[in-house]
Amino acid sequence: MRVLILGGTGEARALARRLQEEHEVVSSLAGRLADPVLPDGKVRIGGFGGAEGLTAWLREQRIGAVLDATHPFAQGITTNAVAAARVARTPLLVVHRPPWLPGREDTWEAADTMDDACALAARFGQPVFLTIGRQEMRSFTALRSVVARVIDPPGWELPGGWHLITQRGPFRTSEERALMEHFCIGVLVTKNSGGEQTYAKLAAARELGIPVVMVRRPALPLGTAAVSSTRAAVRWVKAVSREIC
Ligand code: NAP
Repeated sequence: MRVLILGGTGEARALARRLQEEHEVVSSLAGRLADPVLPDGKVRIGGFGGAEGLTAWLREQRIGAVLDATHPFAQGITTNAVAAARVARTPLLVVHRPPWLPGREDTWEAADTMDDACALAARFGQPVFLTIGRQEMRSFTALRSVVARVIDPPGWELPGGWHLITQRGPFRTSEERALMEHFCIGVLVTKNSGGEQTYAKLAAARELGIPVVMVRRPALPLGTAAVSSTRAAVRWVKAVSREIC
């Protein structure tokens, strides 16, 4: 069976590695990063041209199943993929790692939008450690003192009191702790991405008693089938391919 994996995450790469033994797998990346980590096997890069473009692509390529293993905050592609799969009548499953949950020693404030996160962060001590990626950094330009960490630079001039760190995870708790101590961080702002690769900043914030502004995940389109592990996704692909045979 031909499987499309919408990727850009570690889960998508794990699925490509695992499924290519039995299926014809195509991984798709948006093409946002200058130097992306490529999955094993066939890869296509760039947008499809909205839900309509993706519907046409699914039909042309005779895709038997779609795994949307994009980042939980990649709302645009997930909305399009769900709509396209419905029209093309292609089974689709979303694979999103479980969200992080606060422990008893954590001080988390939840925000629904980046603007809310900025307003909440402004109530705490600065500098703000901003780890929400480069695309939404503009929502925080009202903050005077920010240490922003991104993979690629944003491509626009940051305000004077901002310090930019370009680095790709995973990070160790000891490294995150050292960074937060070095910059005397007052509050951490992050999206609830989940997963282990970038969890260390939360462990370090807990150890240092630094509050966290946690941006909630966007909701999935109503009625979308979703799992939280690659193992469950592999089982689903097996079941779909059995039905087709
Ligand atoms: P987005 O806002 O959900 O998508 C915007 C547009 O980018 C989509 O409509 C689509 O263009 C294209 N696109 C996105 N993902 C694609 C994919 N895997 N393959 C082909 N086209 C894709 O996306 P985003 O939040 O910028 O994220 C882009 C990619 O980075 C995603 O694949 C995601 O897994 C990865 N990523 C995102 C985050 C995050 O925090 N958002 C973090 C880590 C990794 P068309 O309409 O032209 O098809």
